[in-house]
Amino acid sequence: MKITAVELFEENIPLKQPFITAKRRIDVIKDYVLRLSTDEGVYGYGACAPTPVITGDTVGSIKCAIDDFLAPLLIGQTLSAELLPRVQDVLFHNSSPKAACDIALYDLLAKEAGKPLFAYLGGELENKCVKTDATVSLSTPEAMIKETKDHLAAGFSVLKVKLGGERADDVKRLESLKTVLSDDIVLRLDANQGWSVEDAVYVSKAAEQMGLNIELIEQPVHYTDLEGMVEVTRKCPFRILADESVFAPSDAARLIRMGACDMINIKLMKCGGIYEGLKIQRLAAENGIECMLGCMMEGGVSVTAAAHFGAAVGISCYDLDPPYLVHNMPGEGTTVFEGENIYLNKEGLGLGYSKVI
Ligand SMILES: [Mg+2]
Repeated sequence: MKITAVELFEENIPLKQPFITAKRRIDVIKDYVLRLSTDEGVYGYGACAPTPVITGDTVGSIKCAIDDFLAPLLIGQTLSAELLPRVQDVLFHNSSPKAACDIALYDLLAKEAGKPLFAYLGGELENKCVKTDATVSLSTPEAMIKETKDHLAAGFSVLKVKLGGERADDVKRLESLKTVLSDDIVLRLDANQGWSVEDAVYVSKAAEQMGLNIELIEQPVHYTDLEGMVEVTRKCPFRILADESVFAPSDAARLIRMGACDMINIKLMKCGGIYEGLKIQRLAAENGIECMLGCMMEGGVSVTAAAHFGAAVGISCYDLDPPYLVHNMPGEGTTVFEGENIYLNKEGLGLGYSKVI
């Protein structure tokens, strides 16, 4: 099977309500679907989303990386897993457009093998279901209570609460949420780099005293402050999940070596796709570190790819809620997003899409 064309399609997917973190606010998901055409008439689909404040990848840089580097690499090539490392090596950084090509190649490779992507990646050939959390945006206590109630009414049992504001305000936010939460609802607190070490310890201890059911604290301090991550990991009563501090497998190795986290959030847009993500997952597993599979604000194609990856390697912790946060996620196929459940069907091939755009 030979790759004959690489095309990029822009999608703008409105959110039900604004998505707000300590770093940014968005109202519409801007997503780029990448389509690889082949001489056998089979398509491979990937996608990426520009997230300038986290990955540094912008609309312009994504188009440039694909037009000038990745498309010339892939067009005319015979489909092979050997293309996966070449996607990573053809230019430095630019992890999001690399992820789009990586996912599309995996989609084609799994289709060629006659398998759903999770089975191609080594998972058992059976129907799978993974459970995602739902995000509560950083806002006023009143707005956060309303969003929390909405998610609980939709059946979610795990919530990711965005914090990272002034620490006294963050404690007030948690005190407010406590009034509407039952003990069985699990919280993941994500500061998106907004705290100092002292803030992280202060808010964690306050949350502990409130008796909240907290599973982890995500990226409490600035992504470059690895000493701070070590200190927070030592001092906080909850597990520390590294997100923005870990892009490549080499970042994961450094944080593990330093004791700078208890868990790692793998996102395909940060690591350049499944090929590098698998390296992080293996490294973490060898060191007894659990991984979360997360995503940026992305469309369904790359979220589906992340779910297949996680299901294949047995990850139990997911933050893949964009399909729930939008009015309508474009595309149709064998993957079904239903509240906290993402169902992956063993009958699908590749990512399982019958219609993407
Ligand atoms: Mg995060």
